[in-house]
Amino acid sequence: MIPSLRSSWPKFGWGKSFLLLGLCALFFLLGTGNSEAAFNTVIIDAGHGGHDLGASRSLIYEKHLNLDVARRLERTLRESGFRTVLTRSTDDFIPLSTRSAKANKYRNAIFVSIHFNWSWKSKVTGVETFYRSSSSRNLADYIQRQLIRKIGCTNRGVKTANFSVLRKTRHPAVLVEGGFVSNKGERSSMLDPRYRQVVADSIARGILEFRKKR
Ligand SMILES: [Zn+2]
Repeated sequence: MIPSLRSSWPKFGWGKSFLLLGLCALFFLLGTGNSEAAFNTVIIDAGHGGHDLGASRSLIYEKHLNLDVARRLERTLRESGFRTVLTRSTDDFIPLSTRSAKANKYRNAIFVSIHFNWSWKSKVTGVETFYRSSSSRNLADYIQRQLIRKIGCTNRGVKTANFSVLRKTRHPAVLVEGGFVSNKGERSSMLDPRYRQVVADSIARGILEFRKKR
């Protein structure tokens, strides 16, 4: 070795070498974690479809509202640079297990199921977001907060549920209930495309916040 080069090399003792190795391992692990966190794919699940109408009242079917919001959300997320996958893009019946199986084909993804609610009590109103795994809690929180901030409706909160799509999907997964079809006031809001756009944009904002803060 050329003496001048040798003398320019830093001199590490064994202790420092181990410390350096340890730090490299730590950065590697953190780096791996970050790449998992930096999801770029959003699986958008429009609830119901085909013969499965979902909530309905006065010829207004939840399945149509869900698909419309899903398409709006798809557009907004693509504009923000996300890759999006719809579990259904037509008015067809897709079994719940097929939806989860489709979602599980993707890596570094999250899953958002879109629904509208129904109650026997026509006075019941509000928006709620469900999750199942702890890794999905923050996603549900951010989406719910954005929805309440923009819609200003009753906050029914973030809740756990053992819904099939939440249980079988191996990603952070939430299910959003964007208001009650059974309530006259909320039903008339849903029929306004501007309301459905606000729902989609609020969900998108919640997703962006989730990615930023992971
Ligand atoms: Zn539903």
